[in-house]
Amino acid sequence: MADACRAKLRTGIGFDVHPLRVGRGLYLGGVEIPHSEGLDGHSDADVLLHAICDALLGAAGLEDIGHQFPDTDPQYKGIRSTILLERVVELLAGADARVINLDCVIVAQEPKLSPHFPAMKQTLSDLLHLPQECIGIKASKPEKLASLGYANGISAIATCLIETAGQCHDT
Ligand code: MG
Repeated sequence: MADACRAKLRTGIGFDVHPLRVGRGLYLGGVEIPHSEGLDGHSDADVLLHAICDALLGAAGLEDIGHQFPDTDPQYKGIRSTILLERVVELLAGADARVINLDCVIVAQEPKLSPHFPAMKQTLSDLLHLPQECIGIKASKPEKLASLGYANGISAIATCLIETAGQCHDT
């Protein structure tokens, strides 16, 4: 076991992107947001929660969201990503890992997201058992550049710090 794996404090980073489609509900940070289109995917396609799941899993040295919840598995079809994040929290608890803080950026040309930040923070606080002061959510517009700028999709980036019991996970 390398010395670096014994570190009790570990960072994680996650990224996700999904296309926007007419006829889908838009879910971000576990909150349904009124919009003319929603993100398309096997689950509810909540890019923010998916990025957060990957940041947490990566920090704990666990396999990523695609391995934990394969999009080829029918049991995850249409599933709310809040349920996936709950399961990730359970995986972290099983690994003796505790989340210290979380910071995120949603990249979306539209809709305006800041009015929904309080509801997202409350949802994340409840799911992660973390004070809202330890959760950062920001939105950035892609300035009408490239595919995201044409409002064809939304992406999210998340970073986190966790504290572990100091044991490395053999994978
Ligand atoms: Mg995803």
